Amino acid sequence: MNYENLLAIAYAEAQAGFDEGGVPVGAALFDADGNLLGRGRNRRVQDNDPSVHGETDAFRKAGRQTNYRDKILVTTLAPCWYCSGLIRQFNIGTVVVGESANFPGHLDWLREAGVKIIELNDEKCTALMRLFIEQSPQIWFEDIGECRH
Ligand SMILES: [Zn+2]
Repeated sequence: MNYENLLAIAYAEAQAGFDEGGVPVGAALFDADGNLLGRGRNRRVQDNDPSVHGETDAFRKAGRQTNYRDKILVTTLAPCWYCSGLIRQFNIGTVVVGESANFPGHLDWLREAGVKIIELNDEKCTALMRLFIEQSPQIWFEDIGECRH
């Protein structure tokens, strides 16, 4: 599996979110053969909806799946608690992480549950998120649930 090719779709979502003035996290769900099931992005700002993270958007767009153990969730940024909970709730087998430099997420908690984690340490993902955090720190801290007043 060429995980970089899968990440490119999630990154395109993140870039679209950035261009819309939103939090640039993109994600996509694939089957075991790398066929796209759903793609999405964080739309906290765009939809005024804090429950739409990249991962949850892609998950919902993919519709009902009978089994997630063989599915691959690709996200540009390490998943937050909310999305990590989704991964464990539905037993998603593999998670591909674009970067965890700007946000470490809870990758060990996922590994403990038997989730296969593939970290790509992607420079484009890291640079896009870093730029957003520099430009819009209040939105970023709001998104990760940290009050900084
Ligand atoms: Zn999340």
